[in-house]
Amino acid sequence: MAMRDDARLEDLGGGLFAYLQPDGSWGLSNAGLVCDGDESLLIDTLYDLPLTQRMLDTMVSATPAAQKIDTLVNTHANGDHCYGNELVGDARIIASKASAEEMNEVTPETMRALLEGAAELGEAGEFLRRAFGAFDFEGITLTPPTETFEGRLDLQVGDRRVELIEVGPAHTRGDVILHVPDARVIFTGDILFIDGTPIMWEGPVANWIDACDRIVALDPEVVVPGHGPLTDTRGALAVRDYLVYVRDETRKRFEAGLTAREAALDIQLGDYSAWLDSERIAVNVHTLYREFGDSSPAPGPLALFELMAELARERRG
Ligand SMILES: [Zn+2]
Repeated sequence: MAMRDDARLEDLGGGLFAYLQPDGSWGLSNAGLVCDGDESLLIDTLYDLPLTQRMLDTMVSATPAAQKIDTLVNTHANGDHCYGNELVGDARIIASKASAEEMNEVTPETMRALLEGAAELGEAGEFLRRAFGAFDFEGITLTPPTETFEGRLDLQVGDRRVELIEVGPAHTRGDVILHVPDARVIFTGDILFIDGTPIMWEGPVANWIDACDRIVALDPEVVVPGHGPLTDTRGALAVRDYLVYVRDETRKRFEAGLTAREAALDIQLGDYSAWLDSERIAVNVHTLYREFGDSSPAPGPLALFELMAELARERRG
């Protein structure tokens, strides 16, 4: 786990900022801020209240427009992008309809219970503690969106136009990217993981590949991923390449009659094994198997974490 003190606010110029939490592994998400005049729009909150408060304080010291956040956009339902919402509870909070529905499923209470029971879970428990044990899931009041949309929504921040484009289901059920045309900046949420492994909880993979193409077609100068360092269109193409590779390798093994577990253990990741959290291949393969029509019962989250723990051990050993 990276040291929290690595977190920093990058000034992208023209009233845009990216808040980055290296190294971008489990729960260490990025966020963004778009300002014009004294109006502000925040893209995502963080996994817990102390992290989110520190981010907001850093933003206020960088620009007075952050003193009162007018609008918050949650790019998707994962807790590392919305558990801090209550700290901007006076803002208009916007998400896709699908994300708003999904937000109630894995609550801070779920995470707390999972970590409390982790001691009895053996290897999977150790994995969970390593991934999530440094976050504080106590006392969080899940604060849902006040407005939802489907497909596309344009917003004004001062005189500036911001486009919300729903590209999910892909990483989750309702992923949204946020495009600021006049600045040529895109905030992608978890459609992009940079130097880290994308995790496809939902699929279909074709939607995610299309989302990468869409980012490239918008011709941005700066792209702020959901996890990892700033990038540009090259980051979108790298994620696209990973998805195509994993889709094709998984398809071969599905057609050869391997189980999803066997396929996940068998696929050689080559250069992608250098990306953080490469064991997420386990989730990606299971999601692809469902998409390909595998009729065996879908594994629950604990079974997936067990398999990821096993893969992580093999890579270390
Ligand atoms: Zn995330």
